[in-house]
Amino acid sequence: MLCSGFNVVGFNWISSPAATELESIVLDWMGKMLKLPSSFLFSGTGGGVLHGSTCEAVVCVLAAARDKVLKELGGWENITKLVVYASDQTHFTFQKAAKLVGIPPSNSRLIETSFSTGFSLSPENLRFVIEDDIKSGLVPLFLCATIGTTPSGAVDRIAELGNVAMEFKLWLHIDAAYAGSGCICPELGHYLDGVELANSISMNPHKWFLTNMDCCCLWIKEPKLLVDSLSTDPEILRNNASKSKAVVDYKDWQIALSRRFRALKLWVVIRRHGLANLMYHIQSDIAMAKRFEALVGEDERFEIVVARKFALVCFRLKA
Ligand code: PLP
Repeated sequence: MLCSGFNVVGFNWISSPAATELESIVLDWMGKMLKLPSSFLFSGTGGGVLHGSTCEAVVCVLAAARDKVLKELGGWENITKLVVYASDQTHFTFQKAAKLVGIPPSNSRLIETSFSTGFSLSPENLRFVIEDDIKSGLVPLFLCATIGTTPSGAVDRIAELGNVAMEFKLWLHIDAAYAGSGCICPELGHYLDGVELANSISMNPHKWFLTNMDCCCLWIKEPKLLVDSLSTDPEILRNNASKSKAVVDYKDWQIALSRRFRALKLWVVIRRHGLANLMYHIQSDIAMAKRFEALVGEDERFEIVVARKFALVCFRLKA
């Protein structure tokens, strides 16, 4: 209500210093709750932005990665060589985003996962596919790993995938859209082990963090790459604050120019509930999921397909 009532249209810092500054503050708060390394925070060397959806966030980081690599390769004609990687459990939004930034659909590798690995992406299989692409003269660009996939709640092993990404100079993005909120709890934080190897990470407080639609946090280690890719400098928007380069102009961190005061929603949620109550909310959902899993386990009509991850129980009717 506040956000709609104020109707702030904060495209750059000068149009609403309060909306911009509060956004940077809540992104650092949220990042600290998740124990992200300072390389993702404004108080360190990175920074964060609120988007409306994971799809938008992934389009933007893909564009930043694409532009960085095309610059190194010497031109846009090389775009057909760029390859992106994810598992077959990755949300379909990733393929859509890759297509939107001009990656040919034939260069999207959705690596098969299996029951035996809990449907998480195997670093060995990833390496095999990357090596094959390099042999064919292609250029590995981007890896999207997921914490809490949509079909099965699978968690990709970030540390091991991060090492492969580093070795082949891939941009590693972590999509923690749903399950990321859970990682504020100490007992679940280990799912983010290896996050320091990623270039960017996103999660949606509007999924499991008591925040109204729409609200997606995106943190990036090198915001400059995002700005290099997405910035515009029309005369009508020029101002001394932007010229000083001492402020954040969020229009250069997203697709659209105009933007709502989304930070207010997250600020209210964090201030109203506090970390302890937010953890309690997640933990009580997980306790309910455990109870539900036990009930399903006792019922001979059903079988558990994937052991519970976070609050997701994956089961089916027995044949
Ligand atoms: N990634 C994961 C893991 C999801 O669970 C979802 C939503 O279901 C998405 C991405 C898409 O999110 P959005 O609707 O914010 O683009």
